[in-house]
Amino acid sequence: MSKIIAIANQKGGVGKTTTSVNLGACLASLGKRVLLVDIDPQGNTTSGIGINKADVENCIYDVLINDVHPRDAIQNTDIDNLKVIPATIQLAGAEIELVSTISRELRLKKSLHQVKDQFDYILIDCPPSLGLLTINSLTAADSVIIPIQCEYYALEGLSQLLNTVRLVQKHLNTSLQIEGVLLTMLDARTNLGIQVIEEVKKYFQSKVYQTIIPRNVRLSEAPSHGQAIITYDPRSKGAEVYLELAKEVIMYEQAAR
Ligand code: ADP
Ligand code: MG
Repeated sequence: MSKIIAIANQKGGVGKTTTSVNLGACLASLGKRVLLVDIDPQGNTTSGIGINKADVENCIYDVLINDVHPRDAIQNTDIDNLKVIPATIQLAGAEIELVSTISRELRLKKSLHQVKDQFDYILIDCPPSLGLLTINSLTAADSVIIPIQCEYYALEGLSQLLNTVRLVQKHLNTSLQIEGVLLTMLDARTNLGIQVIEEVKKYFQSKVYQTIIPRNVRLSEAPSHGQAIITYDPRSKGAEVYLELAKEVIMYEQAAR
């Protein structure tokens, strides 16, 4: 069985890309066949996993707009079982170009359907907005992971995101579920972090992952080396927690079956 998970939050800098790359790499290291789909024009997942954007022949833009078959956009990474559909800056135009295309909300879903069977997990790294690229991702997905940074105003903006999820559930994808809420960048030295955890747990209850991602310098260094944390520094705290998260994701799926 394969599962498509969107990693979404319209706030920037909450850990969407870090989670896409490292959860994807950890799932792959546990033997799962994983496809990362970079649908953020910034292309941070693409470069973060070691793809040189200048060498990209077909990116997610070509899949969405030019009807390129996704198989012709999939690239290998340095990690076994981990593949990626890259994004380049070309994608920046897609948000506007999509407006006038037929079945504009369904294009990613239709494309990914063609390769879904080849993967256990497809993770979509969403842009920091609730525009058509995120709508396409939520429409294509079976579920959504919401990363929340452990900081002041952590819950701010979440009602907009949840509202969008509900609208997509109502009109485009009735089976969309919330896979889990992930607390990120916890600074264990402050009380604030603990308060945010309590607040988020009160709101989302059992949807909150037990694994909480702390601040870890190695996690922030890895992308500039084009590496996932398990390659860059397998003994770091960052590698440990993302591996834990991957196990939790797998465990919930087994429990659900
Ligand atoms: P988003 O994709 O939501 O915009 P990113 O994953 O790019 O967020 O994270 C924002 C910044 O914070 C990046 O520079 C990233 O390297 C850094 N970062 C993310 N998670 C952590 C962490 N747990 N510890 C330290 N730095 C992190
Ligand atoms: Mg990002």
